[in-house]
Amino acid sequence: MSERVEILGVKVDAVTMAQAVALVEELITARKPSIVATANAEMLMRATHDEELHQILNAAELVVPDGAGTVWAAHHLGYEMPERVAGYDLVQELLKLAPKKSQRIFFFGSATGIADRAKAKAETLYPGIEIVGTRNGFFTAADEPEIIAQIQNSRADILLAALGVPKQEKWLAAHKSELNVPVSIGVGGTLDVMAGAVRRAPKWMQRAKLEWLFRAMLQPSRAGRLIALPKFVLKVHASKK
Ligand code: UDP
Repeated sequence: MSERVEILGVKVDAVTMAQAVALVEELITARKPSIVATANAEMLMRATHDEELHQILNAAELVVPDGAGTVWAAHHLGYEMPERVAGYDLVQELLKLAPKKSQRIFFFGSATGIADRAKAKAETLYPGIEIVGTRNGFFTAADEPEIIAQIQNSRADILLAALGVPKQEKWLAAHKSELNVPVSIGVGGTLDVMAGAVRRAPKWMQRAKLEWLFRAMLQPSRAGRLIALPKFVLKVHASKK
């Protein structure tokens, strides 16, 4: 396993994209139901006051450094953190490999129709890919047995859960063993971006570490969430020994 560095009590894997992909592939081969989380500053902040999320992240098989904030925090605390591994990019790498490895993928989450549009996009981008099921992410407790059965029957190797943080992590942790999927990943807005419903920041903004600003501009309803970022910076600094 890779080295894990602790940021605000959460152990994050110090991995490159290539290492993250290799680790996910190992988890698929091992076939023991595993959870992969993509930790950005907002998720790490939430874990400081959400004990359930905190425990789920520290029990996850892989926690990748998603976001410039996470990489900054690791460096500020004196750890090595080779690069940002954005959840969206990790998913694209895995989808690219899936046809070659005959892996089956399930898209779960986002508003009605989004997962199907993301599936159509994946089929164009990655010929031969097997998206073996889709299901929107708005449901009641009464719908859950049917959703679980749909995922089980799909015999997926990778489950992408796009229910938002922390719902996706909690749902995956609660149902991990019955779902019996080798790798489940909480992917936030990834299906929205694949479906073309939400745009990703242009590359220059990603390079300038401004993806968070772009997201807030595009979806002003998210702007309130920005307050987590300066709080994160202060908290990481205060935790420095
Ligand atoms: N979502 C969902 N079910 C819910 C709440 C949210 O499927 O009960 C979806 C929502 O439509 C969106 C995704 O979860 O596609 C959350 O995306 P966001 O970019 O907000 O992710 P986060 O920043 O929370 O990871």
